[in-house]
Amino acid sequence: MAKITLDDLRHAYGTNPQRPEDYALQQLDFTFEDGGAYALLGPSGCGKTTLLNIISGLLTPSHGKVLFDGKDVTGFAPDERHIAQVFQFPVVYDTMSVYDNLAFPLRNRGVLEAEVDEKVREIAAMIDLEDTLMNRASGLTADGKQKISLGRGLVRSDVNVIMFDEPLTVIDPHLKWQLRSKLKELHQRVKRTMVYVTHDQTEALTFADKVVVMNAGQVVQIGTPVELFETPGHEFVGHFIGSPGMNILDCEVKGGQAFLHGQPVATSNAAIVKDDAEGSLRLGIRPEFVNLSENGNGIAADVVNVSDSGRYQIVETRIGDAPVKLLVAEGVEIPTGRTALSFRADRTRVYRDGWLVAEGAKA
Ligand code: ATP
Repeated sequence: MAKITLDDLRHAYGTNPQRPEDYALQQLDFTFEDGGAYALLGPSGCGKTTLLNIISGLLTPSHGKVLFDGKDVTGFAPDERHIAQVFQFPVVYDTMSVYDNLAFPLRNRGVLEAEVDEKVREIAAMIDLEDTLMNRASGLTADGKQKISLGRGLVRSDVNVIMFDEPLTVIDPHLKWQLRSKLKELHQRVKRTMVYVTHDQTEALTFADKVVVMNAGQVVQIGTPVELFETPGHEFVGHFIGSPGMNILDCEVKGGQAFLHGQPVATSNAAIVKDDAEGSLRLGIRPEFVNLSENGNGIAADVVNVSDSGRYQIVETRIGDAPVKLLVAEGVEIPTGRTALSFRADRTRVYRDGWLVAEGAKA
């Protein structure tokens, strides 16, 4: 196991990068703590694979360093880094038994057969493959094969980090949650450093203790699932995480007071926004923290649509031209036409050019 430090890391595939957009991965300083469960989350093309390949050694970064337990491994080849990888498509030796697949990395390293046997059986029990140990791997379903890929990483005692690259892509939808919970359970048991790459927020948030959210080559926030939900550090995090995502509305701020379509709105941070501040100001609030006003006072809005998610009603309104969604419990009657909304002030925040105006910062 190892602590992995990314030190002033950047990567450009082209030569002579000048602007931030020239980098597939923009500047990043971060430490994956030893034994932690992390996810790299972001849409296609945001740089997840680039970062994963830099950590595993398939790619040398154009700038900066990668350190394992403080040792500079930037120039090390993948096999010198002792990394186990689980890819989208399971990598198994179809002609071998499940047992031999799991034993393979150990035999390759010259481990004695008695120890191989002990380790293979221990790991097979963890990943529920005990009953199929002597079967041919080719007969297993995709999730069984993916367990073998994972098991081959777990049997090795020399593994610094296990990296998962969209590991549930080919798993049947109804088995996905099972394998997902299994991965989480295994992490808690073995406490190895694990990095899980995905574009799926549910996978990231259920697996990881800390999620690294990426967009357009940039890490926009690193936080626990609760932090990402409660305090999105960037508008992107607000709308990418959550279903529906955060409402993002153009706003004005004057004298420390935010206004939406001319109506005052209480926020947690408008007081620190200066009147002459440059950049576009927007207000972010999640649908969970918008309510229908009980006494008719509040921000005037028009109800335009109501849909049922099965667990709650999603009410679509407009404040002026701006769409605002809110979640309302099943059974609550929704007014038609003009209504009033209330925003929970401590969950309503001003963003400047996409970034949260941070409490205490001079904005
Ligand atoms: P996906 O989920 O689709 O795999 P990703 O988040 O893993 O996407 P990357 O594959 O890291 O993203 O790509 C980041 C950016 O770098 C993209 O703009 C991509 O086009 C570019 N890129 C990736 N590999 C190369 C390469 N070998 N040469 C040039 N550009 C590349």
